[in-house]
Order: sequence, then structure tokens, then C-alpha cells
Amino acid sequence: MTRSNEIGANSYLADFGDDGCVILDAGMHPRLDGNRGTPNFAPSRGKNIKGIFLTHSHHDHVGALPLAMREHSDVPVFMSEGSYFLADPLLHNSVEVMIKQRDEYNIPEYPLFTHGELAQLVQRWRSCGLEKPYSFHGQAKPKNDPLTFAFYDAGHILGSVGVLLNHRGRRIFYTGDINFTDQTLMKAASFPTEKIDVLITETTKGASPKKEDRSVVIEKLVKEIEETFENGGSVLIPIFAMGKTQEFLAEVYLQLQKGRIGKRPIFIGGLGKNFSAIYDKLAKRSTRFHPDLKLLNHGMPEVMDGKRVRNFKPRKGDLYLISSGMMTEKTLSNTLGQKFLENEKNSIFFVGYCDTESPAGRLLATPKGDYVVLESLAGEQQVNCKVKHFDLTSHALREDILDYILRVNPRVCMLVHGDPEALAWFKGQINTLRPEIQVVIPPAGETIEV
Ligand SMILES: [Zn+2]
Ligand SMILES: [Zn+2]
Repeated sequence: MTRSNEIGANSYLADFGDDGCVILDAGMHPRLDGNRGTPNFAPSRGKNIKGIFLTHSHHDHVGALPLAMREHSDVPVFMSEGSYFLADPLLHNSVEVMIKQRDEYNIPEYPLFTHGELAQLVQRWRSCGLEKPYSFHGQAKPKNDPLTFAFYDAGHILGSVGVLLNHRGRRIFYTGDINFTDQTLMKAASFPTEKIDVLITETTKGASPKKEDRSVVIEKLVKEIEETFENGGSVLIPIFAMGKTQEFLAEVYLQLQKGRIGKRPIFIGGLGKNFSAIYDKLAKRSTRFHPDLKLLNHGMPEVMDGKRVRNFKPRKGDLYLISSGMMTEKTLSNTLGQKFLENEKNSIFFVGYCDTESPAGRLLATPKGDYVVLESLAGEQQVNCKVKHFDLTSHALREDILDYILRVNPRVCMLVHGDPEALAWFKGQINTLRPEIQVVIPPAGETIEV
């Protein structure tokens, strides 16, 4: 039901005939506005939907969940405990963003759902544990149900899981977003290793060959941060509020303990603070490193909000970990970023995926001294500060995903959540290494019989 193969509005319908159907994720496209950014739920209408699954609480997986729930009014939604706590503030924030965008960009259908509706919908959310089978009544230890499910830690962000569906002995596994390497907080994915019949896997990094280890990239970034401070500048790291902010905040604390970076004011955004509080609340109950490290108590980051940022001037020696990661217009990192450009002592470091069309992508493509447009209303600005990208991805390396595919040796492997080159790399590798696996790149909106 996703409208595109790229990293868009993820949503898939799995149909098990008389035993019912399930919906896997219900995301919003990160760049498309209004109804164009939602999945097409038409194929799910009139079907016997047993449950909706949420793999994790990133916008491209959960953003349209209220719409899927509206379509299927009695159906439960299954998710991990982490997603259960993270999805609620994320969706309420979405309502606020949509209300703003309705007026600023004239999108009459916004907001697509309201705070009041959300408060009702969460009552159908069910939090489930890891690595144990559940029935669709939400009970662990199902008896003779023809269709059951189990969650497996995906290592991507707090609460991220892959969903294993067991249909009369056949195993169908949807990975969601994966990370097979340890991050600062999240431990690597712990996925089922026995034979899978149908594997639906993400392919985000399919076009990027393995480069340096995460620890090498972190060391380079820390050195650049220290250098900027030594030269009397300040550092802006535009960063996703959920997942990346918490990983990097933890990394900064660990570096401080090692005597690196130097104690100084650290700023995070309001949304980043809310998600950090949930990471703290679940610290001991989730599968992560450093369960005693409390993100908000430990370094007491200051909070930057929309009002404060408007009249704020970057201060020498400050570290700003502010969303959005791609410096989307009207977000804090975009507003603050405009004030960073003129001072050659400052640095802007990107740590995640930057779409070439986004303000982050444009800034990265602008040589020092040239001009860039970060916000259309503000017009061109000269880039004097340092701008660099460090790949601290929270997605699995393509080589690791390929190893996993070969290990579980599915009869059918569906490739999703990737750009055309990424999908093509996986298809080529699987066809060469294991030609008996049927590789499917599902065309958006079409039904595939497996
Ligand atoms: Zn994700
Ligand atoms: Zn995703």
C-alpha cells in the first residue's frame, strides 16, 4: 500500500486468505505533503484485518497509523513497549506540525488527524514482548491459531522490531528498519536465524559500500568538534529527534568521561527532550547498553524551542544537537543553521541521511564561500562556516543484510525501503549468489502472489 519503493510511506498488506490479513506499518512519506504523503489503504478495505503491526516509531513507519486505524475501526495494533511510548508524542507532534503547515503551505486536508482522535486510538494499542509467540487476541502462548506472530529486536532505535508471522507452519518475516551493528545505546539486531519462507527486508544502504567502522567515524567527528571549540566556534549537529539524538547525546557523555570535547552547554530540541525522557524511563527495561546512563539527568542538556531560537545567537563553545536532521524549512536546525553560516569559526556537522533536495543536501553541495538557500523566504546566504558529513547511520550495512538473507535462505525475498540503485544491488547479489531465491521488488500498489 506504500505508494513508492523509495524510502516513503511504508505500509504493506499481507493476505492469508481465509485466515485473514495483516497490515505491516503505516508511515508517512518524509518529503511529500498532504494526502500524497500517505499510503493508499484502498486494497485493505473490506478485508478481514486481524491486526496492524508497527515495527518502530519513525515517521515513515508510524505517521499514518491513525488513518489505518480509522479505516479498520475494531482492529488492534501490536507494537513493542518502546514503540508504545514513543509513538504517542510523535503523533501528537505531527498534529501540531500539520496545523502549522496547513496555514503556511495551504494544505487544506491538514491535520489528517487530531489530538482528540489520537487519545481514543491509543486504547487499541497493545504492547508485546520480544521473542515469544502471540495470538491476535494479544495473548502470549497461542493455542491452535492458524496465524500467530512474534517480535525480534531490530537494533535500529528504542523498541524497533522485526515481525515474524507464522501461518500454518510457514514463516514470513518483515524486518522493518534494521541495524546489525552495535550503536552507542542500541544493541545489534537479534533476528531469527532458522529458515524463513518469505522475507520482506529493508534495503536502505544498498547503494553504499561499507566504508569505515562506526568507532572510526565517531573519532573523526569528535576531533572536528574539539577543533571547532579550540578555534572559538560553536557546533551545530542537525539530528533526528528520535534515535539519533539519544545515541549521540550518550556518545557525548561517554566522550566527556574520557576527557574529550570539554564540559560545555549542550542544547537539544523540545521533541528530542521528550523522546530522551522515554529512553531514560525504559533504560533498564530495554535491550540497550549503559542502562544506568540517564540522558536528561547526566549532562542536563538545555532545551531550545521555536520561540527561543528566533532571537538566539549561536554562542561560542556551545554544542547544539537540534532537529531536523535534514534541516527541513521551518525546523529549529534550519532557523539556527541560518545564523551559523556567516561565522567561519562555526561548524555544521551532519550525521545522518541527507536527501540531495533537502536544505542539508544543498548545503553539503555548496563549496565554502558560495551561496546557498536554506529557507526560501530568507534567500541566498554565503557559506563561511565549516560543513561536513559523517555517516553515523542507524541502518544495517548492505553486506550484513545480504549475509542475513543468505543465512535464512528464503524461498521469496521481497526488497523494500530503498532507492532504485539500492534495490538493484541486492537483486544482483542474490541472483548471483543464490539464484534459487525468488527476488521480488514489489511495484507500489500491486499485489504479489507468493
Ligand atoms: Zn527508522
Ligand atoms: Zn524507515
